Amino acid sequence: MHFSPLLEQLIEALRCLPGVGPRTAQRMAFQLLERNREKGKQLATILQTAMENIRHCKQCRTFSETEYCRLCLSNERDKTILCIIENPADMTAVEQMGHYRGLYFVLMGRLSPLDGIGPEELGIPQLISFVAKGNIKEVIIATNPTMEGAATAYYISESIKQYTLKITRIAHGVPLGGELEYIDSGTLAHAFAGREEVI
Ligand SMILES: [Zn+2]
Repeated sequence: MHFSPLLEQLIEALRCLPGVGPRTAQRMAFQLLERNREKGKQLATILQTAMENIRHCKQCRTFSETEYCRLCLSNERDKTILCIIENPADMTAVEQMGHYRGLYFVLMGRLSPLDGIGPEELGIPQLISFVAKGNIKEVIIATNPTMEGAATAYYISESIKQYTLKITRIAHGVPLGGELEYIDSGTLAHAFAGREEVI
């Protein structure tokens, strides 16, 4: 190793970011130290605050620093429709589409047994008890059209089909293998309009 111990530690720490290998981590560390020390300090502070304060909304599981997120608390949402998505970025995509007014449930992933991600990790027991309360009349499953996304959708529909509600899954318009967060609003709107009943 050619760097001082602290610099080595910084480079190693930066490697926890997705897609950052040793070379990129080095470049980031040098850039912050040499050209952007103030921004680096700000980054450290906000990282610390965010890591300590951002949790999951008790109802929808999205990131929130309050017990329930703003969307779950809003009086302007239709509390009889629930859209199930894989991650918070998908929520942004659906919101940008502009005409979904219901609630969300964020899985924070998709079923992936090989990675140890099962129903518990996705909050599916929590989803079932939410649906069991009886206020939800329609569940729109908007997991990604990948193999894991489809398996997750199937598992969810099987888990909640005992309740009296309409279960739909978005279908048309979303390309196979695509991810919601990269799809334009028009395509996504089409996919919502063309959702199909699962059972
Ligand atoms: Zn929420």
